[in-house]
Amino acid sequence: MIKIGVLELQGNFESHHKILKKLGYDSVGVKNSNDLECLDGLVLPGGESTTMSLLIDSFNLRDSLLDFSKKKPILGTCAGLILMAKNIENESRVNPLGILDITVDRNAYGRQIMSKKEQINMKFNSKLVDFEVTLIRAPKIIEMGDEVQVLLDLDDSPIAIYNGMHMGLSFHPELNGVTLFHESLFRGSVNSNFQAPGNINAA
Ligand code: GLN
Repeated sequence: MIKIGVLELQGNFESHHKILKKLGYDSVGVKNSNDLECLDGLVLPGGESTTMSLLIDSFNLRDSLLDFSKKKPILGTCAGLILMAKNIENESRVNPLGILDITVDRNAYGRQIMSKKEQINMKFNSKLVDFEVTLIRAPKIIEMGDEVQVLLDLDDSPIAIYNGMHMGLSFHPELNGVTLFHESLFRGSVNSNFQAPGNINAA
């Protein structure tokens, strides 16, 4: 059985457990480095990236998370994506992990009150799928390294990216019951599911 951890330092980890269980995976909370042993993958949930960054260091998790990222896939949603970035525009309170070669602009999609939902239509696994994405004070990806592929974009900005191993999402699939991002990453089928990475939005 696939066993996936969800970082439980802060934020909305419960919804990720629900999605992972819906997929039939064993879903476990991660609070210290021992919890990372024997996992097939990890989710960094949404929440508050400043707080999570502080807690990663107070719980001595930084090195273990970096070691883990060299071996197993990590999915970051929203604040999780911010933590995975290499650079954060105009921000010194978050010390990101640098797992994805991207620069993000925190809260670029607006304040809490301006959170929005968007209807997405795209091709996934040769079929047209449509679902809603929720953006809550979401980060915008403003720069990407060459190895980073765009899986999905919205208004000409990437909101789902993949670097061949890890995936970062500006939105919250877990809040809309959307399983396809978790499933394709943790089954190792991103490239076959998203047939034309970089251009899949043209369904
Ligand atoms: N804006 C938040 C941050 O910077 C992220 C919001 C979210 O995860 N929904 O941490």
